[in-house]
Amino acid sequence: MKITHVECHVLLVPDYDTQACSSAQDDLVVEVHTDEGLIGIGETDTNPWVARECIRARGTHCMGLGLQEMLLGADPLQPEAVWNRLYSGSKMTGRRGAVICAMGAIDMALWDIRGQAAGKPVWRLLNEHRGRDGTDAGPRPVVPYASLLATGNTVDTQCASLIEKALTAQAMGFRAAKLEVCINGPYSHNGLQEDDESVVEMVAACREAVGPEFTLMVDVAYAWPDAERALSVLEQLAPHDLFFVETPIDIDDLDGYARLAERSPIRIAAGEWQNTHWEFEDLADRGKLAVLQPDVGRVGGFTEAVKVCRIAEQRDRLIVPHCWKSMIGIAASAHLAATTEACRFVEFLPAKLSESPLRRELVRQEFELVNGQILLGERPGLGIDLDRQALERFVDAAG
Ligand SMILES: [Mg+2]
Repeated sequence: MKITHVECHVLLVPDYDTQACSSAQDDLVVEVHTDEGLIGIGETDTNPWVARECIRARGTHCMGLGLQEMLLGADPLQPEAVWNRLYSGSKMTGRRGAVICAMGAIDMALWDIRGQAAGKPVWRLLNEHRGRDGTDAGPRPVVPYASLLATGNTVDTQCASLIEKALTAQAMGFRAAKLEVCINGPYSHNGLQEDDESVVEMVAACREAVGPEFTLMVDVAYAWPDAERALSVLEQLAPHDLFFVETPIDIDDLDGYARLAERSPIRIAAGEWQNTHWEFEDLADRGKLAVLQPDVGRVGGFTEAVKVCRIAEQRDRLIVPHCWKSMIGIAASAHLAATTEACRFVEFLPAKLSESPLRRELVRQEFELVNGQILLGERPGLGIDLDRQALERFVDAAG
């Protein structure tokens, strides 16, 4: 089988808000076509215009080629060989950043094609790829947490919306939810810059609302300038029984993360922006992170994500995949999670609780919860279908 064409769709929600700390407002979706008529779908969570050019751009020498020119004619059933070729041929431009994000969308699509060709779901192929025992058994249970972004422009309105969404998630059958308490620092949501006391008060109010049995996580989006300031707030958050706190400090401060790992009363999670398994080795070994959060698209696709799972398994760390895009990425996260015992939860922004029409409308399928779990079936590949009319609307909005 040969790759004949790579279609890149840049998508945008028409009424996007630049004040929002939400990347669910745009998307790059790729469709990889083959000479046997199979089409694989992938997506990545980065600036979609930049990622599209990483695929389309030409190159003039063997160290800086464009991804598309290397893909045409390649065998889509060999995603690891394709990944190595793309990485090597783009190395001077790529290695990390947008090129790896673009490669992630393509790799996701190749695994989708492989699944369709073999008549098997991706989770089954990943188990086979890893040489795991019992590959004829079913998938491991996948437990989602509802990812909750507040609405409103004040602490009070954001707090009230988080409580309402957390209670809705609970009523929908979720066992866990993550509160986006992004009210200070460089990536605050809707322009807020509030004090640390408000962070603690918001978490306390949500905990009181959902009761003691429900699992809560908190994402503060790199809010604090250093580990010491973060630690002072983490100690105040500890009585509220959080499963983890995500990205308390800048992602480049790995020594700060290591200090937090030694002293924080709550597990620390990070990794949503990381590209390649090499960056996760740094997070695990230098940053000493307890919870690694690979985003399947950004890390470089399934080919890299399974290596991150191995890093976590070997070091007794947890995997909780990041995903803030459409059901394409959510499906990818779930397939990955179903293949590793290190994964305790997957991020799942339910359509019902999402502000983004792109999240709600792009894909026809939505996971149902059964006893708080996602049940992955035997549908080949990623097992998703795009809603073509929705796709066209978001392509038009991007211009
Ligand atoms: Mg985050």
